[in-house]
Amino acid sequence: MFVTEIKKFIQQNNYPEFQLKAVFFDMDGVLLDSMENHSQAWVKTMNGLDIPFTIEEAYLNEGRVGHDTINSAYMRTFGRTATLEEQEQIYETKTLHLEALGEILTMPYATELIEKVKQQNLTIFLVTGSGQPSLLNSLDDYFPDVFVKERMITAYDVKQGKPSPEPYLKALEKSGLNPWEIVVIENAPLGVESSVAAGLFTIAINTGPIDTEVLASSGANLVLTGGMKELYERWNDFYQACQAIK
Ligand code: CA
Repeated sequence: MFVTEIKKFIQQNNYPEFQLKAVFFDMDGVLLDSMENHSQAWVKTMNGLDIPFTIEEAYLNEGRVGHDTINSAYMRTFGRTATLEEQEQIYETKTLHLEALGEILTMPYATELIEKVKQQNLTIFLVTGSGQPSLLNSLDDYFPDVFVKERMITAYDVKQGKPSPEPYLKALEKSGLNPWEIVVIENAPLGVESSVAAGLFTIAINTGPIDTEVLASSGANLVLTGGMKELYERWNDFYQACQAIK
């Protein structure tokens, strides 16, 4: 069944072909089981500043760089964006709350999927809005030698975070590949918007409380309601569909 979606993608984007060479992974909610802690840390941080902020809002902001989340909450509450100093302070507080919430583990099936992708000799990139050093550093412990600086785009590499296409366009440039040689794995609406706007085939996996419809309407080429488990189980089918297109 994946052949249909891939053909549609080629046609919509006017690409000459689809030849899978690389997988671009988002981090939070895809590789790391971190979204619940992130959401709680944001709520604690904002409420500590008398800014109303809910768990749901944290999930809907997923993928944004920290200062965008801070600015939109500031705008709504105080009618202005936060100063650079405030942004830094607030992000630091959020980082402390996040770290106090304890160790973050990998998403179920993330290790197995990465292993499969490695065996298929596909290039692996990380494209994240995160600037959390503890999480970025943990990647090398969980997935040794997979995520190295030359194949990573983080909050530190972009001017505009997701949903702007910039993070994915930067990764594309860094990879030296064509947009028809990549598949993106995302779990959040803003992340999907970003990669679709960059012209990349995007698989959205639903790993959180957000309605699957929201992921579909943000433009994903494929939506898997069964999260990482379903992606892992169907990965070989997808890979074979890519071979069949050639
Ligand atoms: Ca994510």
